[in-house]
Amino acid sequence: MGARQQPRTSGAPRQDARRGPERGAPSQAPGARSQPDANANANKGTLRRQAEQWPAAKKLAYLRDRSVGDCRRCRLAETRRNLVFGVGNPDADMMFVGEAPGAEEDRRGEPFVGAAGQRLDAWLHELGLQRSEVYIANVLKCRPPGNRDPHPVEIQRCSPFLHAQIRAIQPRVLVALGRFAGCLLLDRQLKMYQMRGSVHRYREPKTGTEFPLVVTYHPSYVLRRDAENMRQARGGQRGGRGGGRGSGPQPDQRGPIKSEGAKVLADLQRAVSLFRAPPRGPSRG
Ligand code: SF4
Repeated sequence: MGARQQPRTSGAPRQDARRGPERGAPSQAPGARSQPDANANANKGTLRRQAEQWPAAKKLAYLRDRSVGDCRRCRLAETRRNLVFGVGNPDADMMFVGEAPGAEEDRRGEPFVGAAGQRLDAWLHELGLQRSEVYIANVLKCRPPGNRDPHPVEIQRCSPFLHAQIRAIQPRVLVALGRFAGCLLLDRQLKMYQMRGSVHRYREPKTGTEFPLVVTYHPSYVLRRDAENMRQARGGQRGGRGGGRGSGPQPDQRGPIKSEGAKVLADLQRAVSLFRAPPRGPSRG
């Protein structure tokens, strides 16, 4: 992994193999590389092969420090306070993927802190899991100003880091929190109600490895719905349009009324059953 997982950027090196040799340079076969280039590529190949054997923690550290580093691949670098890489157990069975850091995450450099993080921690507790047992990351590593929705170009430039995190961790199940994460991992534009309620397959783009995927609501959305429900229960008027992280899902309209929090717990129980049951997840190589 490691160097091999360097995300492609618009500034990726071009291949000049079709150009002839420089005037006066020794004649080379078409496409032949200079000795320094050949040595550099050989070194990269060696590092790549070695990195494939690294433990997940070392792969993640390399990715964070060397590949992501002080990333400036999109304009969110100009407004972030901290880059929020991810946190948790590198060997986790369960990996959560949210949308993007909010204000508190941006301030502390850690995903899912603040009210949304507390709600996620409470769900984990209900499932008999500690936060330190799972891994948590976001589609975007930097906060969109004002918690606006991610732009497609930001997702395109940042998502290779997420795919690389998944390659390193090799979780037994992925949980997408919110519509943006669900659509990215399914590589399709769907509504939340189309993604919830079943187990999908996420196909890692570089290796083709598949992982079970459950999509559920983002805790920020659940918090907003809880607040609206409480207002309604008190006879107040329906609140505003929300606007924090994870906005956009379409609540289910049919069936008995069930709180969004209860629906999330049911989704998470489905996800947990995938790795607590006899092994039938992806090969962990
Ligand atoms: S959001 Fe992602 S691609 Fe954009 S600057 Fe941050 S780390 Fe880089």
